[in-house]
Amino acid sequence: MRNGKRRIVFKVGTSTLAHHTGRTNIRHMEELVKVLSDIHNSGVQVVLVSSGAIGMGAAKLGLQAKPVDTPSRQAAASVGQCELMFLYDKMFSDYGQIVAQMLITKADLENDTRRSNFTNAFEKLFQYNAIPIINENDSVAIEEIVFGDNDTLSAEVAKCIGADELVILSDIDGLYTKNPKNCDDACLISIVEDIDESIISIAGGTCGNLGTGGMATKVKAAQIAGEAGIDTIVMNSTPITNLYRYMDGENIGTRFKAHSQKKREG
Ligand code: ADP
Repeated sequence: MRNGKRRIVFKVGTSTLAHHTGRTNIRHMEELVKVLSDIHNSGVQVVLVSSGAIGMGAAKLGLQAKPVDTPSRQAAASVGQCELMFLYDKMFSDYGQIVAQMLITKADLENDTRRSNFTNAFEKLFQYNAIPIINENDSVAIEEIVFGDNDTLSAEVAKCIGADELVILSDIDGLYTKNPKNCDDACLISIVEDIDESIISIAGGTCGNLGTGGMATKVKAAQIAGEAGIDTIVMNSTPITNLYRYMDGENIGTRFKAHSQKKREG
């Protein structure tokens, strides 16, 4: 808590922001913006980590698929990031919000001076009541394009700015005992007290040969946040009103509990 204000990092993936065509899912984006604006109006310091730039850029450039070579991915990211922020600015403005784009690389958070510049800028943005929108600086960070993922980025940001919670919005209700897209008998795990080997294997696990392992980066993010005393909640972005239920204190999705000894004090 900062001056009695809860600080939450929300991470949203391409699956929420784009149609299967790659073009923007305007309805989803508008709904997300509306709910986050409301949460912000209720006195919460909102940070949004948003993916989607490369996909949107590729679609706008008329490319058949997401490019694979680095220069093309960087070009697509540059085009897509403009579209992404143009839409966020336009939509958040409708609800009287100020947004701020912050593009960062791993190196920005690893270097002491750069990290301190980053956190100082953040605190100022919160003083100005703005909503920072963060993405990896894909157009310059080769390494990030190849290895990076915004789940990990969101956890690093949450840690850096001392967030109270990290909320990862996905296309799935949370962490299941198996990948529910392939296994009918998968059950939702509502609370993870400790991220042990079994949780790691579930997240990266497969059912037959079909598993995608798409939860692995979310569990890794929860580990990073948890070590900093921050709980991580993975929940479905559909319907986006799930966020209201969460804010009202309902147990929703999967909560990865931070290690209690390290839990931040208010
Ligand atoms: P996003 O694009 O929202 O970041 P991902 O597609 O990367 O999400 O990851 C979510 C996907 O992970 C789910 O749709 C599901 O297919 C897959 N997955 C694999 N294992 C699990 C599991 N144990 N529990 C839930 N989802 C799983």
